[in-house]
Formats: sequence, structure tokens, C-alpha cells
Amino acid sequence: MIITMSLTAAPREIEAVKTKIKELGYETRVSAGEKKTVVHVIGATDRDRIIKVIEPMAGVENLIPILSPFKLASREFHPTDTIVPVGVHTIGGRELAVIAGPCAVESEEMMLEIAGLVKEAGAKFLRGGVFKPRSSPYSFQGLGEKGLEIMARAREKTGLSLVTEVISEIDVPLVSQYVDILQIGARNMQNFALLRTVGRFQKPVLLKRGMSATMEEWLMAAEYVLAEGNPNVILCERGIRTFERYTRNTLDISAPPVIEHLSHLPLIIDPSHASGDWRYVNALARAGIAAGADGLIIEVHTHPAQALSDGKQSLKPEKFRELMDEIRRIAEAIGRKL
Ligand code: PEP
Ligand code: MN
Repeated sequence: MIITMSLTAAPREIEAVKTKIKELGYETRVSAGEKKTVVHVIGATDRDRIIKVIEPMAGVENLIPILSPFKLASREFHPTDTIVPVGVHTIGGRELAVIAGPCAVESEEMMLEIAGLVKEAGAKFLRGGVFKPRSSPYSFQGLGEKGLEIMARAREKTGLSLVTEVISEIDVPLVSQYVDILQIGARNMQNFALLRTVGRFQKPVLLKRGMSATMEEWLMAAEYVLAEGNPNVILCERGIRTFERYTRNTLDISAPPVIEHLSHLPLIIDPSHASGDWRYVNALARAGIAAGADGLIIEVHTHPAQALSDGKQSLKPEKFRELMDEIRRIAEAIGRKL
């Protein structure tokens, strides 16, 4: 059960609702959003009684009994699509969002060159990892703060909005000063302390699906961020682990339509990590957009063979340009825009 307080609800009215719920024998959790405060009643079984007691109270706008385990992330709670504002851009509206760039920031020179090329092709967002969650501790781990400074210079030069992954709670304040979207990687999808921390900031969060996570577990992870008061969550389907080995992961093409049914949150597709092979990236990207995704995140590198990470799945800029032309045509066919 969720109780939405009205825009003008006073703090003492919110307190009164919490006290009353406690008297009825339930715990509460409060999410103070930018505009409205929401009081969650944990494990509400006697819905009729709660409605009867709480509905007439001052400051209460409405009560929504939500059956799914994720509440704030559910369509029931928020029937219209969420459009996440990112600087001058948005993710989740009619216009598709394309994020492109290298897996990792390697040097200023390469970052500025790639940023210029992806912008020219039509991307509005630049990706680049500075803290890399590598499977091996001996692989390149990223440039850290120096990488963030390089990204900020790329934004100054191109106007592209920045996306980078944050892998530790202690890095969240620093990374938030530099970038426009905080990425939570597949390996950290259930790092609940990290999810709570990014939930306390208002920065948009790009939440990747864990490699063995069900859609419900993924939406529950989004719920952690939303429950802390950050409504700006973008989901990212990046492939799940199956028995198939010719691709790095298996793109779950069911994700866009199923998530659209279950949740109001925008969803983008990562065909680079889903396939692990640049030869399959464009086909998966086209399929993702045709299936209803709100955008793409694509790894692009000028010299994939020399890349410090994920070169095998990185597109050369000309291949990325080709993809953008294809996506533009698909967008037109399905009533969207690139
Ligand atoms: C990445 O985006 O470079 C990355 C590590 O992705 P994922 O968390 O999906 O593996
Ligand atoms: Mn990568």
C-alpha cells in the first residue's frame, strides 16, 4: 500500500499519518521526492481498514494498493511513462536516446576524438568507464578521477551529456560532480548499499540488469533507488547469461515489452555487452529499438584492436554511423524520432 501525500502536505500531517499506521500495527517507510512525499505501508494486509482510517486524514492525496513486489517502479503506481531529464536532453520520451563511446576512458586524445565522431553521427550522450569492474583484478582498472576530468573536457567541447559507471559508495559524491548519469553495472545490480547511496542523489541512474537477474529482481533493484527519493532511473538490458556461448550474453528481447507493461521507467538496450562481438551489435540494436526500447548504449572505439577493454565488441565510428542511419529509419516506422 502506498499513501501519496498532497503537494501542500505539512510535515506534521506526514508525521500524523506515520503515527496512525504504526497504531494499526504496520511499519512505514517515507520517500521524500522532489515534489511529493510518499508513505509506504510495509506488508499491509488489512487494506480496507487502512483506507478507512487514513483516507480522511489531512494532507492525504490518495491511497494505492499495489500488488506487485516493486511499488514505486510499477505501472500501477505511475500509469504514464517516466521521462528522465538529463541536462538539456531527456530519456524516455518520443525521442530515442543514444549513448556512445569507448568502454573505458584511455586518454584525453582518444576521448576527444571519439566524442567528436559520435556526436557527428547523432549521439547525444557520451559513455566512458573510469572505474572498470573487470572480471580479473589484473586487467586495466580505469583512470579514476583523471578520467572524469577528461570526460568533463569532452562535454565542454561537444555538449554531449556524460555517462560513467560508479562501483563504490565512496565514489558517488565525486563522480556526481562530473557526470550527468551514474551507471550501476550488471555486477553491482544487487549491491544494495550502492543503490541506496545513488538513491540519495538526484542524478539520473542507469541501472543495468544483473547477468543472472530476473526482471522482477531488476525492478526490485530500481525500487531501492526510487525508495530513497531519486525518481530518475533508466533501466538497461545488457544481456543475461544462458547456455549459449557464441555470444558473450543473450540479449533478452522480451525485456522492452515486458518492462513496458510492468513499469513506467524508461529502458535502453546495450547490444555491445549483450553480444560481445561487434559483428552482431547492429542487428541486436535494430531489434531492441523495434521491440520498443527508448534508446541504446553502444561501445565505439577508433582502434578496437588496441582498446584496453572490450575492443572485440566495439564498433568503429563508420559502423556506428551506419547504425544511426538504420535506427533513424526504424524510429520513423514506429512513430519515434532520433
Ligand atoms: C560497461 O558498460 O562497460 C560494463 C562493464 O557493462 P556491464 O555492467 O553491463 O557488464
Ligand atoms: Mn565494456
